[in-house]
Amino acid sequence: MTAQAMGWSDVLALMLGAALLQIPVATWAAANEGGVEVVQEPAVGSSNPFYAGNREPLLASPLIKLPIGSIIPKGWLRHQLELEAQGMTGRLPEVSKWCKFEGNAWSDPQGQGHSGWEELPYWLKGYGDLGYVLGDQEIIKSARKWIDAVLASQQADGWFGPRANKTGLEGKPDLWPHMVMCNVLETFYEFTGDERVIPFLTRYFKWLNTRPGDNFGAGYWPRIRFGDNIESIYWLYDHTGEPWLLELAKRIHENMQDWTTGVHDWHNVNLSQGFREPGVYYQQAKEEKFLRAAENNYQTIMGLYGQFPGGGFAGDENCRPGYTDPRQGFETCGMVEFMHSFEMLTKISGNPLWADRCEDMAVNSLPASLTPDLKGLHYLTCANQVQLDKGNKAPEIQNGGTMFSYSAFEVYRCCQHNVSHGWPYYAEELWLATPDRGLCASLYAASEVTAKVGAGASVKVVEETDYPFSDTVALKISATQPAKFPLYLRIPRWCEGASVKINGKAIQCAAKSLSYVRLDREWKDGDTVSLRLPMEVRVQRWEKNQNAASVSYGVLTFSLKIGERWQRCGGTDAWPEMELFPTTPWNYGLVLDEKNPAKSFEVVKRGRGPLPAQPFTPTSAPIELRVPAKRIPAWKLDSLGLVGKLQASPVKSDQPTETVTLIPMGAARLRITAFPVIGRRPDAHTWVAAKALPVSASHCGDNDTLEALTARKQPKSSNDQSIPRFTWWDHRGSAEWVEVNYDKPRKVSAVEVYWFDDTGAGSCRVPQSWRVLCKQGGDWKPAEGASGYETKADTFNRAAFTPTEALGLRIEAQLRPDFSGGILSLNIIE
Ligand SMILES: [Zn+2]
Repeated sequence: MTAQAMGWSDVLALMLGAALLQIPVATWAAANEGGVEVVQEPAVGSSNPFYAGNREPLLASPLIKLPIGSIIPKGWLRHQLELEAQGMTGRLPEVSKWCKFEGNAWSDPQGQGHSGWEELPYWLKGYGDLGYVLGDQEIIKSARKWIDAVLASQQADGWFGPRANKTGLEGKPDLWPHMVMCNVLETFYEFTGDERVIPFLTRYFKWLNTRPGDNFGAGYWPRIRFGDNIESIYWLYDHTGEPWLLELAKRIHENMQDWTTGVHDWHNVNLSQGFREPGVYYQQAKEEKFLRAAENNYQTIMGLYGQFPGGGFAGDENCRPGYTDPRQGFETCGMVEFMHSFEMLTKISGNPLWADRCEDMAVNSLPASLTPDLKGLHYLTCANQVQLDKGNKAPEIQNGGTMFSYSAFEVYRCCQHNVSHGWPYYAEELWLATPDRGLCASLYAASEVTAKVGAGASVKVVEETDYPFSDTVALKISATQPAKFPLYLRIPRWCEGASVKINGKAIQCAAKSLSYVRLDREWKDGDTVSLRLPMEVRVQRWEKNQNAASVSYGVLTFSLKIGERWQRCGGTDAWPEMELFPTTPWNYGLVLDEKNPAKSFEVVKRGRGPLPAQPFTPTSAPIELRVPAKRIPAWKLDSLGLVGKLQASPVKSDQPTETVTLIPMGAARLRITAFPVIGRRPDAHTWVAAKALPVSASHCGDNDTLEALTARKQPKSSNDQSIPRFTWWDHRGSAEWVEVNYDKPRKVSAVEVYWFDDTGAGSCRVPQSWRVLCKQGGDWKPAEGASGYETKADTFNRAAFTPTEALGLRIEAQLRPDFSGGILSLNIIE
């Protein structure tokens, strides 16, 4: 056989497995008489010569990625990928300046130009793989144009791409964007076998190996995310076996952020990718404590901040003590990085729990982060999120400005590019190879896999299923001749009583949740396997979040179905930015059967015939749940347009019982997922409506908040960007006001105003003039005897007046011509 006649995977198998291929086939087969077993993880005692996995001395992996192209996704997953190709990811150069080829620092052979940071690699990482898993030649071709340019940009010392990054951090290299580009090149190589890639990456890591240790620790992002490079170094080591690579990986582990002794950084995306680092390093260190550290990190994060359904956690930029309600957000970058971490840990550990976590995130949260046509996304997805307006939600959501409405544009710059790899990577992990020359169905979705098994025969397995919308997975085997190999089927954690039929005949197996059923036999052409994963309604209580309840059916988490009103708020006709408002009530508590809460739900499977192409919308969702519920009048939107925080369950309600409909969370772009529970006993709690803010204004800037007026902060300067602020932006040169109102008259004597002024950075200035008015009766009257209406920056300006009883105070400001203005802090002296 010539190299041309072999598929690239054969070439790779030969390269990697030359030594292993010497094992006599008969010996191997005799040692693997199995039958039916239930196992915790695939055994690592043997070697798979076709898919080599880790090279010694790295630990052998119990599950091994198949070459890209081995798996053809079908069904709803394929449709997500097709929508992605037609939507934002496939056409991102139309809307993102970072993806413009001309003049780009990633496309220029000298590394000069614009956009040299993470955005382009983020996008290319998923964009290329999207082409590979779909077999989309146009995408493959345009990804290759970028990759060719990157490969042509290497300097003699091994550095490549943007030159500015080489000294980007006070003279030290910014290594972070390159970590992402390494991932791009790995999958490109897996798909093409391009001979430039291995020497290219070898030269780059040789360059990295010449760096002193303090380079590895330089910079916030690189230091925390350096585990990404360890993974790439192992990938390269598995291909070349050069021992210095393992020394380099060890040195990185020792100089980067310590993730082994716990969680020391609370940035959402850092957590989602960083937590796994000890688990990756475990392959080299071989000490259980490292693998355990990844699990411990996950438990720490989720125990504190993941106390609601959907698989994410409360990290609306950073996790913050006190901000753990289901209304806090999880960043879309965090979703796809978490999924990638789970995919890695599935293979490293063989523990099916990681695949479960990946599936949870993929089917519950990821679809909801995107519009149904995948032409826009938002930054933050929350378990409870009933309005997606573009208004500021800070400080209740940590980031100021637009976070919830959908957009294809740079308002969500990182997620806009990074979301690309979520679905393609998922599709690459549906099937995995096992060390005992078998195949594992790890993530269930309709698909076709072609792989070498057993003594070396190539078999095809066609998987037909609507999972997670149905409980049956049908497999059909095609083989030119009978082939003996083990087939592993993952049993999810929620599943009791899974059953298996082979060629229509039930087989005896005590399948437990969180295990694999291993079917080791001689498979013949046309053999079928039918796996049934019975689903049932489960109710979970969230004690740390006011004892709220959530409900799942199989892996799907369910949310209240809320009527949607989509409203364009910007963008272009081709790429509209959309807000989403509720048209039906959402403030329901569930009325649950006390003895058997799951009994309260009726499962309604909608429609007959094939699954809708896009099942993640309220109108196409294939499964609904019906449940009695009562409204809770005190549960309202707050002044920021956020769903009110949960209060304790059980909760009293004197409202009539209604039947409400729940739909899968991934289909619910407006949703309640963590529900209050209605109580009928005397110990049920009475909720109180959150107090409306007593302040209002003639106008409040989109990125700013009225809450700055009541927060009583001490600003560091008039341009303090670290505290909430109020502005009249973008009103300029106008007369404006803010006012504070009281329930009953109060005696007031002075006002202190700390003006916002961003001279040098923006267009807000201290005002030209101002004055105070007091509300007496129904009228606003200028404060008597007032003095000191100063307009100094960087200090409180105190205006004292004759003490007076007032129902409210108003500050009127005349803005400077052409400038806006605002207030950082306000004190009213009584
Ligand atoms: Zn992001």
